Amino acid sequence: MEQIEKLVSNQRTYFRHGNTTSYEFRKKQLETLKRMLKENESKIYRALKYDLNKPRQEAYMTEIGFLYMEIDFALKHLRQWMMPEKVSSPITHKGSTSLILKEPYGVAFIIAPWNYPIQLSFAPAIGAVAAGNCVIIKPSELAAATSSLIKELVSEYFDPSYFTVVEGDGETTKQVIDERVDYIFFTGSTRVAKKIMEAASKHLTPVTLECGGKSPAIVDSDANINLAAKRIVWGKFTNAGQTCVAPDYVYVHDKVKFKFVKAMKRYIRSFYGKENIRNTNFTKIINENHFDRLVSYLSCGTILHGGTFRKEDLWMEPTILDRITWEDAVMQEEIFGPILPVLTFTHLDDALYTIRNKEKPLALYYFGENSAIQQQVIEFMPFGGGAINDTLYHLANPHLPFGGVGSSGFGNYHGKYSFDTFSHQKSVLKQTTKFDMPFRYPGGKISDSIV
Ligand code: NAD
Repeated sequence: MEQIEKLVSNQRTYFRHGNTTSYEFRKKQLETLKRMLKENESKIYRALKYDLNKPRQEAYMTEIGFLYMEIDFALKHLRQWMMPEKVSSPITHKGSTSLILKEPYGVAFIIAPWNYPIQLSFAPAIGAVAAGNCVIIKPSELAAATSSLIKELVSEYFDPSYFTVVEGDGETTKQVIDERVDYIFFTGSTRVAKKIMEAASKHLTPVTLECGGKSPAIVDSDANINLAAKRIVWGKFTNAGQTCVAPDYVYVHDKVKFKFVKAMKRYIRSFYGKENIRNTNFTKIINENHFDRLVSYLSCGTILHGGTFRKEDLWMEPTILDRITWEDAVMQEEIFGPILPVLTFTHLDDALYTIRNKEKPLALYYFGENSAIQQQVIEFMPFGGGAINDTLYHLANPHLPFGGVGSSGFGNYHGKYSFDTFSHQKSVLKQTTKFDMPFRYPGGKISDSIV
């Protein structure tokens, strides 16, 4: 406890001395972060393999490579992002200039989950560093090897008064929040997000909450079935379905269901190997609790593909479930595992209204060729972000904000949005002293305007 108090207070002092604000400082820290990742790639792969059995190619694409892209993007645009923004002033403000300055908050606290433990610890940190804040990361205790590596690397490459890591669980998280950090960036479940917000309210600390939810993939009758199946299989089973924006379930038009399911089975076999045979290069389930929860879903409906598992190494096969209703246990919460329920519809509107009556999802994917219907879906349906004819890919575009809505969270990041998230927009009016407009003063006249 004392240690956490000291750590936050050291960072506060470091920040108050203005050490973190210059362009040169921020640039150097971003470069150091990239060097840290580059020089330790093999250690990172090993930790991710240990915690999650992550295949190397997936780990590069979804964790390390993603971070290189975000760092390079920030380095390219940082100088411009930092510039005060000049905005216009109304006629009533004649003679003045209006500016928005991007002010760092101070000590930024980043709380990360276990599913992409490297990406989700450092991607927000890139924004916090670029915006000129000090940074404390709390990785997830459930990805213990990665958490310990993150701590080891950050301590080796950074001054702890500027950038540090605390390891621990919810209690540790609360202790840091109680020390009155200046910004909280949380990624995790909606359940814990509520606790974070409650703890943050004590000091009115601003928060970004990146949560999850049940993200639908809708496949319409005119969709390119082959591509829809390929992209949904990839989006669902990457990281064994433990992805916040994974398609949680599929809603498919009954006319094309048979063809679509057949195509999905083909892609599952081609990407992950034969049915009922353990693929040693497939991400494992994070722990026994989650594993048991997922196994219990296998009794819902009927199994169309897969369904085998091995508790010894927390492996579960990519699985498709059929004959699922909204009353089934698998439809009551975010699945977060390699199980894909398939529901059908006859009229798209019915499917859209059903989804609209649920919690707002983090992502929504629509597969169909008619551009008027595509437009109707993206305008009518509330969701954090999503894609037409694809899954997951929207989150890798640094020009798009990434974040939730409703119970999937609020606030956003990636690219410039990360910089903005970690910056206070400070409004400043520079007034002229050459003249003074009289009308705002009691009894003021035009003739009073010259000082
Ligand atoms: P979680 O909410 O259990 O834990 C997230 C973090 O909060 C961890 O660091 C954990 O130690 C901490 N924590 C746990 N209990 C706490 C408490 N009582 N008080 C304070 N802190 C506490 O989430 P998880 O299981 O690690 O991750 C899975 C969830 O995260 C899923 O719901 C998923 O959709 C969501 N997620 C969202 C995104 C996104 O970008 N929106 C990304 C990844 C995961």
